[in-house]
Parts: sequence; structure tokens; C-alpha cells
Amino acid sequence: MMKKRILMVVMDGLGDRGCRSLGGLTPLQVAETPNLDWFAQNGSSGIMDLISPGVRPGSDTSHLSLLGYEPYSVYKGRGPFEAAGIGLVGRKGDVAFRCNFSTVDEAMNVVDRRAGRVKEPDTVELVNALQGMTIQGIEVHVRQGTEHRAALLLRGPGLSADVSDADPHEMGPVLESRPLSPGADLTARVVNEFVRRSYEIWKDHPVNQRRRQEGLPEANILLPRGAGSFPDIDPFPQKHGMKAACVAGVGMIKGICGICGLDVLDVPEACTGGLDTDMIAKAEAALSALKEYDFVLMNIKAPDLTGHDGHAEEKLKVVRRLDTMAAYIRERLEDDMVVAFTADHCTPVDAGDHTGDPVPLTIYTQGLVQDRCQSFNEADCAYGRLGRLRGCDLLPVLMDMANRSTKFGA
Ligand code: ZN
Ligand code: ZN
Repeated sequence: MMKKRILMVVMDGLGDRGCRSLGGLTPLQVAETPNLDWFAQNGSSGIMDLISPGVRPGSDTSHLSLLGYEPYSVYKGRGPFEAAGIGLVGRKGDVAFRCNFSTVDEAMNVVDRRAGRVKEPDTVELVNALQGMTIQGIEVHVRQGTEHRAALLLRGPGLSADVSDADPHEMGPVLESRPLSPGADLTARVVNEFVRRSYEIWKDHPVNQRRRQEGLPEANILLPRGAGSFPDIDPFPQKHGMKAACVAGVGMIKGICGICGLDVLDVPEACTGGLDTDMIAKAEAALSALKEYDFVLMNIKAPDLTGHDGHAEEKLKVVRRLDTMAAYIRERLEDDMVVAFTADHCTPVDAGDHTGDPVPLTIYTQGLVQDRCQSFNEADCAYGRLGRLRGCDLLPVLMDMANRSTKFGA
């Protein structure tokens, strides 16, 4: 059997519900999508619950599922994926947090949670002033993200992710991190000491002296939240026997792929993670990666953004652009390619957030059984022969279609 290469196209938050402004139809049902429909007509389709029916997935847990991992056993909090997404990749036992550069007054009350959306180069300079710190025998690593975001990674014996946030999530006093289970005392103490030191080191830092003069909010404290421990994950290439890469714009998706052992490819013009992303450039990057890799995951964030914004018209525009991207892929299909089009969850425009509805799925490769699904959308894919899958079943199904699965029995 010829081993094929797999391209997984994840259109983030693409699935929807019946929209009021679209006469009760979904954007996928309303938009003309001749190319996505071509894949549905010539491939096998189904609908998919990323985690399980009715569970509202985050993009992190859903991508773990898409990569063939059981999210409930692997997912230990958001911190590690955010940290890995900005290049702070830890190992088993490390504990990571998402952080905000914030502004506090002298009484340690948060007066601006984003420090006036402080950004580089100020954040880089401030973070540099914190490097090389050890607290109670625990190594402390900090990295700035985009704008006011950062990540904190703790490394050493006896750490636990079971601690509360120092970030109050609103204006008001900075919180003491508390242990939420026995054995988390050390971690809570380290977090509190770290927060205190960030204030001590930053309150009169030259960056903040300058910001004060310019009338900008000072970035004088770093507030951690969302503690998570780095999971003990079987790297994807070993687990599935495939050399794998991802093309994505969003830090968290890159982080998940990085933690799972995929090569995270840098395609700056294609990977903005915003509505301005160049989808054709992204498809081009994914297809050229497929010359070298057995498996490529490509994430396009744009549909999710329009869903959160609640803009049906904008989501329709994004769907049309996705179809143009599908045309680009269709024109470049090769016999040894398996292509899957799907989403990591629904972000219905009328809901403005992720829902637990199943997402549409279409898989194309030469020689597949064609089924009754004629168009790629939430309703018609349910007529396909793949039926209703769980997210973590998709990878085994794709591997089988790619003639890469191992035989069970004689
Ligand atoms: Zn998502
Ligand atoms: Zn979302």
C-alpha cells in the first residue's frame, strides 16, 4: 500500500448555528463554496464532536484531540500552552502561568490590568530585568508575548499547578496566590515572592521612569494566572510514526503543536492570526511543507474571530475566502495526499462564543468511497458515511486512509 501524506485544514471556529440575520441558516449554508463542496462531493464526510457531544471545547483541548490525544488525560491547564506559544517550552514537572503586565498603585491595587497595553520594546527590557532569578530553589523563567501578555515558567522539585491566581481579573487589590491542595504551598510562596519582586525591580526601572514622564501607565507588576503543569506527552512523531509540522498564526496553537512535538513553521506574512491573514500564502506554506513532512496541520483563525465578534456578514466573507483557499489546494492535489477540512469547534455568530455543537468534516483522497454529502456545511455533512466522530478519532481515520495504520491482529 502506498503511504500517503496528510494535510489537516482546521478552520478555527467555523461551525455555526442557524443565524437570525441569515434566515435561520449558517454562514456555510448561505455562502457559495463550490470548492469546499467539490471536496464533499468527491470525498467522505461526517460531523465531529471535538471532545464529546455537548462539551464546549477550547481551541487548546480541541487541537490536542485533533492531534490524536485524549484531552482529559493530557490537558493540565492553559498556562503551558500559552508559554510554549511564545517560545517558553518546558518539560514534565514544570509549572507555567499566563501573565499580564499590569499597573498597581502604592497600596498594591491594580489600576490598569494591561498597563496601557504596553508592548515591545518596553516589555523586552522589563523582562530582561527579571532574568536569572531563583526563588526558594526554584528557577524562574519569564518571556514577553504580544502587547501586555507574558508567560512565567517555574522549574524545580516539589512544584504543583494547584494554586490560585495572583491576578484579581479586575481592578482592586493584587491577590495572594493560595495553595488549593496539600503540597502546593511551595508554589504559592514562589508565585507571591515573584510578584513582589517584579514590583520591586520594576517600580523605578528606567522604562517606567520614562513612561511616567510621558504620562503612560507604568508596567510595574507581572500578575500570573491560569497555572498549569507541562504534560508528559508522547511526542507526535513517535506516537504516530509521522514527521509532522504545523502552520499557524496564533501563539497558543503553535504552543500546543510545539509541546506535541510538531515542527512549528514560521511563515510571517501568512501567519498573522488575524482577519488580515493571507490564506493562500498559508496554503502554499502548508503544501510546500508537505513535500518534507508526512503530516501538516494548518490553522486559520479568522472564522473564530468573526464568530466572537458576532458578525454574520464578516463570517460570510471569511467563508468565501476559505473557499478560494480550498480551490488553491484542489488545483494542487496529488495522488498521495489525504486532505481533511474541518473546524476545532463552532463559534456561532449569534452565540459569540464556542458551543458544543458538532463541526462539519470532509476528507478527500483518491479512491475514497463517495457518499451522499454534496455540500460542505453543518447539515449536509451529517449525511456522510463517516457519521459522527470524536475529535480524537479523526487522526486514526486519516492514518488509515493514508495507509499508515497498524493492523490489529493477524
Ligand atoms: Zn478554536
Ligand atoms: Zn474562539
